[in-house]
Amino acid sequence: MARIDLSDLAHAYRADPKTPADYALKKLDLSWRDGGAYALLGPSGCGKTTLLNIISGLVHPSHGRVLFDGKDVTNLPTERRNIAQVFQFPVIYDTMTVAENLAFPLKNRGVDRATIDKRVAAIGEMLELTPLLNRNASGLTADLKQKISLGRGLVREDVAAILFDEPLTVIDPHLKWQLRTQLKRLHTQSRATMIYVTHDQTEALTFADTVVVMYDGEIVQIGPPQALFDQPEHTFVGYFIGSPGMNVLPAAVDGANALVEGTTVALGARYAALPKTARIEIGVRPEHVRLSTKGEGVPVEIVRIDDIGRLKVAKLSLAGRPLAAVLPEESTLEGSGVRAVFDPGRVHVYADGRRVAGEAA
Ligand code: ADP
Ligand code: MG
Repeated sequence: MARIDLSDLAHAYRADPKTPADYALKKLDLSWRDGGAYALLGPSGCGKTTLLNIISGLVHPSHGRVLFDGKDVTNLPTERRNIAQVFQFPVIYDTMTVAENLAFPLKNRGVDRATIDKRVAAIGEMLELTPLLNRNASGLTADLKQKISLGRGLVREDVAAILFDEPLTVIDPHLKWQLRTQLKRLHTQSRATMIYVTHDQTEALTFADTVVVMYDGEIVQIGPPQALFDQPEHTFVGYFIGSPGMNVLPAAVDGANALVEGTTVALGARYAALPKTARIEIGVRPEHVRLSTKGEGVPVEIVRIDDIGRLKVAKLSLAGRPLAAVLPEESTLEGSGVRAVFDPGRVHVYADGRRVAGEAA
């Protein structure tokens, strides 16, 4: 088990990077706590696999260093980093049985037969592969093959870290839920540092203690799931996390008020000097928007109301801009004169996408 530090790290796949856009991974400093359960969350192409492969040694960073427990491993090959990695698509040996595939990482390291048998049986049990252990791995379905890959990543008990790169992509939805729960439990038992890459917020939020959100080659927020919900540091985080995501509206902010499409909205804090040239927006989660017919708030039109079980989601239009509100199930609203009221303490202010901290109003 290890603490992993990335120091002054950056990576460009092209040989002569000039502008920030040439970097798949822009400059970053980041520490992964020993024994932490992390999710690395972001849309396709934002640099997640690049970051993971730099940690495992499959990619050599163009700048900066990788440290395991303070020791510089930047130039060490993958085999010498004591890491297990599970890839998005199955990597298995077709000529071996399922059991031999699972045993491979242990056999490679000269682990004794009895320990190997015990671990293979335990991992086989956990992944429901027991009836298949003596079968040849060729000819199995993609999701069974991926379970074997997952098992190979989990079989060693002595790894510094286990890296998962969207490992459940080819797994069917029911099994996905089950495996996710098992991975979480496994982390609690083993205390290995685990980094789980995904573009799926549900996967990230159920697995991780700490979520690292990436966007366009940058880390935009690191925090526990609740913090990403309560205080998105970037409009992208607000939009990406939550369902529906945070409402983001262009605004002009003056002190403790924002002017949104011609209507003044109260803010929970005072904003002194926002950068003059910046693009200013406010963000408010649908959960913190309510509807009123008492003349308060901003005028909206109701586009649609969806029943999502215990709640309703209202899709609104604010001067042509989409706005969502989450309403209690029993709410009934129709007709004209409907306005949306934002909970002032829950409205955030953003300058060029980044959250600005306000002062007590
Ligand atoms: P993610 O895993 O988040 O989808 P990647 O790390 O795979 O993102 O990719 C980040 C960026 O780097 C993308 O623009 C991708 O096209 C580019 N990229 C990834 N791998 C290579 C490569 N081997 N050579 C050149 N460009 C690459
Ligand atoms: Mg990837």
